Amino acid sequence: MRRAEQGWRAFYRTDAWRRRRTEQLAHEPTCRSCGTDRQLQAAHVGVTPKEWEAFITAPLQTLCIRCHARSRAAENWRGGG
Ligand SMILES: [Zn+2]
Repeated sequence: MRRAEQGWRAFYRTDAWRRRRTEQLAHEPTCRSCGTDRQLQAAHVGVTPKEWEAFITAPLQTLCIRCHARSRAAENWRGGG
């Protein structure tokens, strides 16, 4: 568990993630949950930090910080976005 956590934290600093995040926010520039266009984050859909490959390839959704924090996944993905 701890090792996986280090892995995904490192992933958030990679160019690959930054590119995916930028593409996601360009593709879907509003929060999927509440519709705001402020403080947006790219959130993973239905994956956990144990699934390292899924982290890289999984679909993303756009959520604002508030909706992301409310989502169940936020417990696992904190520090991302
Ligand atoms: Zn929202």
